[in-house]
Amino acid sequence: MRKLLLCLLLSGCFPALLFAQRTLLYCGKLIDPKAGQVLTEMTIIVTGTTVTAVQKGYAPAATGDMVIDLKDLTVMPGLIDSHVHLEDQFSANTQLKGFTMNEADIAFQSTVYAKTTLMAGFTTVRDVGGTGVNIALRNAINKGLVAGPHMYTAGKILSSTGGHGDPTHGYREGLYAEPSYTETVCDGPDACIKAVRQMYKEGADLIKITASGGVLSLEKDGLGAQFSDEELHAIVQTAKDYGMSVAAHAHGAEAIKRAIRAGVTSIEHGTFMDDEAIALFKKYGTWYVPTIIAGKSVADSAKIPGFFPAVIAGKALAVGPIIQGTFAKAYKAGVKIAFGTDAGVYAHGKNWMEFVYMTEAGMPPLEAIKCATVNAAELIGISDKAGTLEPGKWADIVAVKGDPVQDIHAMGQVWFVMKEGKVYVRRVIEDVKMERVKE
Ligand SMILES: [Zn+2]
Repeated sequence: MRKLLLCLLLSGCFPALLFAQRTLLYCGKLIDPKAGQVLTEMTIIVTGTTVTAVQKGYAPAATGDMVIDLKDLTVMPGLIDSHVHLEDQFSANTQLKGFTMNEADIAFQSTVYAKTTLMAGFTTVRDVGGTGVNIALRNAINKGLVAGPHMYTAGKILSSTGGHGDPTHGYREGLYAEPSYTETVCDGPDACIKAVRQMYKEGADLIKITASGGVLSLEKDGLGAQFSDEELHAIVQTAKDYGMSVAAHAHGAEAIKRAIRAGVTSIEHGTFMDDEAIALFKKYGTWYVPTIIAGKSVADSAKIPGFFPAVIAGKALAVGPIIQGTFAKAYKAGVKIAFGTDAGVYAHGKNWMEFVYMTEAGMPPLEAIKCATVNAAELIGISDKAGTLEPGKWADIVAVKGDPVQDIHAMGQVWFVMKEGKVYVRRVIEDVKMERVKE
């Protein structure tokens, strides 16, 4: 008793012990992506930054509780996009930006894209490559300086010389110094090992490689394999030593197969996967991150005269429209799929359109939402914190207007976003009532 009294007098432990702030969220509909169910009239109880209970019915509120009324909305766990680039947004003058923007400029714009992404309901992202500013952005978000999603970042992309991720490819001689391991351009197993360790040193959470050519770089071949088996094995093994997974950008079948056999965690895009590649996905348990919206978006942009240099436009038209069909094939075959969009290649905040394209290709809405919650959390390795709303997990909660099971376009009507217990979006005040219960 004396201890309790002392504690009451010391204001520091007073609120934490006796009046831990509870928030009760009344959910008209609540999607449980793990069970593939939509529950009705549920209460989520949040204490501090985590979920403490999920109950049937609208639990009575006690004095001091915050009550958030989401009875007219469909609630679900915070969404996860496992393929974004938060530093930039592609436009007709992207090539020029490399000569005009300083890192500080990139940093400022990245904070806007991070906030846009969070407001669109994506409370966690995996950033698969940029200039390294993405590492500073993640740190700023973690410190609470910038509003943005939980961020897991690859830092810079590992590429072979002249490969998709070689930032100097396509420019005249003498404009740049030869890129080195600090730019993560690497040839041969030793250089690849060094580049992985360099990314670890700079603070990356995972490793991203360009295992094949790509669309939006100034190289002529967007499909061919760009790392040897030896290089891939060196990268994967070194990443494992440092507790990092490897995400492999790959369009062509040979590049996809080499990367899977080397043990990468995920294949990004996977455009030209053939039956042998699909069998390898299943054998190795490799994740597929489709990015259908990126394919569609670059193909659309390529139709605008002058938007891309000719070498890019040709590749965009050849590769872009294929991905949705690949996704349908992979889904039917039972390949593990995690939601990813390549945001930055198209406008940040429109990530939800990927849900539309996934369902168009034959995936049921609840399954698509599972890809963006349960599956993506597993891919990133954060199933203990995200992906479902269960006691002990982050209070990352999204609510949309309408019912995405009936009409998937509801995923674009994000009315409410909470990240770690903090409310970021509460669109249309009348629709989302939020009030403290008084005595
Ligand atoms: Zn990408």
